[in-house]
Amino acid sequence: MKAIYIDGHGGNEVVHVGERPMPERRTGEVLVHMQASTLNQVDLYMRNSGAGITHQLPQTMGLEGFGHVAQCDADSGFKVGDAVVIHPGISCGQCEFCQRGDDVLCTRIALVGEHRDGAWSEYVVVPAQNVLPAPSDLNAYEAAALAVTHLTAWRMVVTQGQLKAGQTVLIFGIGGGVSVAALQLAKAIGARVIVTSRHAHKLERAQTMGADLGIHTPDQDVVKSVMAFTAKRGVDLVIENVGEAVWGDAMKSLVRGGRLVTCGATSGDQPPADLRRIFIRQLQILGSTLGNVQEFKDLLVFCEQHHLRPVIDRVFPMDQVHEALDVMSRAEQFGKLALDLRA
Ligand SMILES: [Zn+2]
Repeated sequence: MKAIYIDGHGGNEVVHVGERPMPERRTGEVLVHMQASTLNQVDLYMRNSGAGITHQLPQTMGLEGFGHVAQCDADSGFKVGDAVVIHPGISCGQCEFCQRGDDVLCTRIALVGEHRDGAWSEYVVVPAQNVLPAPSDLNAYEAAALAVTHLTAWRMVVTQGQLKAGQTVLIFGIGGGVSVAALQLAKAIGARVIVTSRHAHKLERAQTMGADLGIHTPDQDVVKSVMAFTAKRGVDLVIENVGEAVWGDAMKSLVRGGRLVTCGATSGDQPPADLRRIFIRQLQILGSTLGNVQEFKDLLVFCEQHHLRPVIDRVFPMDQVHEALDVMSRAEQFGKLALDLRA
């Protein structure tokens, strides 16, 4: 079957579009005929270095996807042809964290496209609990985008961030998949949203999606702009995945008792902790990554209720995956870059 795989680590020269063995389905698993997927930052990390993740080469890339059930158990709750989305976190179901429903913290979690063969292929096999009915009102690319980006944003904004209607959230680096998803979720919740970017056109786009304030970082001071907008109060929540470059501004933008949720560190992961500010102002710093299967179910319901559609920047056929990876590495996109797995 056709797949996009890596056979080493480095640049695009290790990324190939070619034949890979057909996966074999066992009892309890579902074979999915894939149709669409999207790119995530971790795909670049897997290509570049493997990111310290235990995996075997060659390995098929891609974490998420939309497709149709090709084979399943009779009692799986699915039937051949059902449109489905895939949750990439395959957990053990037995450890302390799985038992309490926090399967994303599973000590033996294996992620599709990280620890095992990924979703950028004609077919993929995953346990039945990792397969969910696709929302009927989204196209294949929009549906595919929910499982990693929107789920990550959901856990950050809702579970960890506890954002409520009327509160204010500051989202750094609008344009990336998670930040755009966080903007959508925060507006649907009824919060006020401040976004930052180096690019004026990304701020304009965010404001058409409901962002209440856009801060153009080359010529506007983040903390001053936030304080002016919030009558010197500060924001209830900061959502960020930039790390070092924005950490100081993020901490200074928070209201007393406010929360900062981070899911990445693209500019560096060792910012000064600023402990005095943390304890005196009683700030909460929360880490987050991906989300549980139950959170994914909650997200799918929320998206349907609020008619929320992931933003797809553009779609590439499989053979143009190198170009897609280049666009992402230059952070040119607004929202998600998608792959058509049948082209
Ligand atoms: Zn577990």
